[in-house]
Amino acid sequence: MTKEKNMDPKEFDLKPGENEQYKPVKADLVCPHCKKKSTMTLRACVNVSLHPEEKEQVLDGSFFQYTCPSCGEKISVSYPILYDDMGKALMIYLLPDETEVALEKLNAQQSSWSEDMLKAAKVCTMRAVRNINELCEKIKIYDAELDDRYVELTKAFVFAQFIKQQPGFQAVQVLYDRQNGDDGLVIMGKDGKTLWVSWPEGLYDEVINMFSERIGSGEGTAYELIDANWSMKILAGKP
Ligand SMILES: [Zn+2]
Repeated sequence: MTKEKNMDPKEFDLKPGENEQYKPVKADLVCPHCKKKSTMTLRACVNVSLHPEEKEQVLDGSFFQYTCPSCGEKISVSYPILYDDMGKALMIYLLPDETEVALEKLNAQQSSWSEDMLKAAKVCTMRAVRNINELCEKIKIYDAELDDRYVELTKAFVFAQFIKQQPGFQAVQVLYDRQNGDDGLVIMGKDGKTLWVSWPEGLYDEVINMFSERIGSGEGTAYELIDANWSMKILAGKP
């Protein structure tokens, strides 16, 4: 897992779909290695429909990698950025700093969106994520043509089973992945150990059958945090 340094530039007021707003922003960065200050350019948006090569860079982490000009240290820098895949009607906002607060602010900006933008938002899947790993997870889920809401619920069942078999295992992150054609979970432990658990055959479809009525089609126009907390609320039967 990459260590991330969070940046929170003040100049973020974004309306998805309005590309002229997506101007790069300069930000100062203090190198964690040599402590020297340098200026890096932060992007406000990754549009992988226009720049497909950038999708690979996001997935392999190079998109967020910055090389310190003083000492050459490679630093993974995460900051608010919109990942926009028009082909998949998927918009994912990375909000690494105070995610819930930032999300509320972002959704409050909707009152100033144009009619066209609101129409686009209705057909798009709109998500917020806390870190680069979660951003990559969402991309992989939609590449696998799955729905992240059912994936989160399936993760909860599979992880509960895993913990029964390995009590005391301290997981720091649990992420969906597809390996050798199998859907499953990458479970990262506190000790740095990473385990792979594949999903039981048919579980994902069973989860859809169990919950589709309850969670609906999800046609909102707000960015949503669909994560373990969300699935716990659904499993607890909360509205
Ligand atoms: Zn440095």
